[in-house]
Amino acid sequence: MTVLDRLKDAVGAKGFSEDPAELAPHLEEWRSKYKGHTPLLLKPATVAEVSAVLAICQETDTKLVTQGGNTGLVGGQIPLHGEVLLSTKRLNRIRHLDESGMTLTVEAGVTLAEVQHTADDKGLLFPLSLASEGSCTIGGNIATNAGGTHVLRYGMTRALVLGLEVVLPGGVVLEMLRSLLKDNSGYDLKQAFIGSEGTLGVVTAASLRLFPKPDIMVTAFAAVPSPAAALKLLGRMQHATSGMLSAFELMPRIALEFVTRHIDGTRDPLPSPSPWYVLMEATGGKHANLTASFEDGMAAAIEDGLATDAVVAASQAQAQALWKLRESISESQKREGASIKHDISVPVAAIPDFIAKATPAVLAVMPGARPVSFGHLGDGNLHFNFNSAAAGDDPAFLSQWDEIQQVVHDIVKEFGGSISAEHGIGAMKVAALPRYKSHEELDAMRALKATFDPKNILNPGKTVPPVLRL
Ligand SMILES: Cc1cc2nc3c(=O)[nH]c(=O)nc-3n(C[C@H](O)[C@H](O)[C@H](O)COP(=O)(O)OP(=O)(O)OC[C@H]3O[C@@H](n4cnc5c(N)ncnc54)[C@H](O)[C@@H]3O)c2cc1C
Repeated sequence: MTVLDRLKDAVGAKGFSEDPAELAPHLEEWRSKYKGHTPLLLKPATVAEVSAVLAICQETDTKLVTQGGNTGLVGGQIPLHGEVLLSTKRLNRIRHLDESGMTLTVEAGVTLAEVQHTADDKGLLFPLSLASEGSCTIGGNIATNAGGTHVLRYGMTRALVLGLEVVLPGGVVLEMLRSLLKDNSGYDLKQAFIGSEGTLGVVTAASLRLFPKPDIMVTAFAAVPSPAAALKLLGRMQHATSGMLSAFELMPRIALEFVTRHIDGTRDPLPSPSPWYVLMEATGGKHANLTASFEDGMAAAIEDGLATDAVVAASQAQAQALWKLRESISESQKREGASIKHDISVPVAAIPDFIAKATPAVLAVMPGARPVSFGHLGDGNLHFNFNSAAAGDDPAFLSQWDEIQQVVHDIVKEFGGSISAEHGIGAMKVAALPRYKSHEELDAMRALKATFDPKNILNPGKTVPPVLRL
């Protein structure tokens, strides 16, 4: 029996596909930057099937890539070297919701949107929120330690995971599906798998932390003269709302122009143009008089010149329309044509200086490129992106990706920042990582990889750089 036949046997007739039409959408990612190939798509429906698959892979030295919703932005989920592909889409059960304990246990292939709705149906909140939430899976969110728009208040995915079930290479099931807020019984092993990008094990289920759903949500879109003013506005509004801000997103004028040009049903909510904008959200309980505090804070900020104008949503529909402007930036950038993207973080207070230094440094190499830096200012995280000078495809522009990336990442390092704030390393940044992390830190990563995956069968060549031999 061939290895592929053994793998097919392990998952049963419904658990695999070799049909090119079914495989195709799994082999290319959202930006079309990475394309892969595979002899076999596996679709296990139980933990036992995942375990059987990984036992065969370990025994036969068969390489395997795990894929959730295929929305990852660094190529980690694509089988670039003909690996077997394991999709978690059939691991899609909601296992348990504990209303009073405010925890939810779900399988890895459940989409983030379904997790949110399941919590919402019980008057609870799962605060992780990404523009890809209709497609991305909770397993993928955990594997990438996803961030999104509410990190400011609730933290990254890591802060929302209480327990995990993970299958290791070789098929061992690590059952760590506890729902405890406090657990100091030795190493917190689940943390090793959160953000490990499919290189250490396959996450099959997770126990998640839920929160009370806020009664009040105030959403505002403010025009600000500069990133420095936006930073001051962040501090001002945190104080005005007693720390109740749940999102604080920066975007430049050009991002608003892209969105209103390409995305149906969007419009500029303010009467006159501004070089920069901030989308803010504060949430809280009815008792907190949050709306009045928020509006007072905003009025004072306008008086002091931190903002020039603002609109506060008067209804949920208006709030959604304002969020649509922010959440459509990536899509509109794609429709506008070629773009080179960075997902970086620096200390929050350094954001204005970073933009002021890195933008001209990139333009010196690519004159005419259009800077579209936007993102989670409240988290010190920018999607520091550039579109080509004119709309449309531009292979010559894209061929400069690596050169530009290094210019940007070197400046990130000067500011004590990270070359990947939330998207991960995957295939995209693995070659660059040794320039920005110490030998000691990289060796510790390699040691961890060797402990859990000694035969290097999971996502080989991604996230963990090989030792360079001279
Ligand atoms: C429009 C858009 C907006 C986005 N916005 C954000 C954002 O604001 N913040 C953010 O952090 N990300 C964002 N992303 C990136 C992406 O949605 C996240 O990285 C998401 O967490 C990936 O989930 P997924 O299920 O699609 O994983 P995939 O893309 O399928 O996989 C991503 C990585 O996780 C591994 N993996 C997936 N499932 C498992 C599993 N069960 N066990 C082990 N490894 C696994 C894969 O091998 C791969 O390395 C965005 C993407 C798009 C397209």
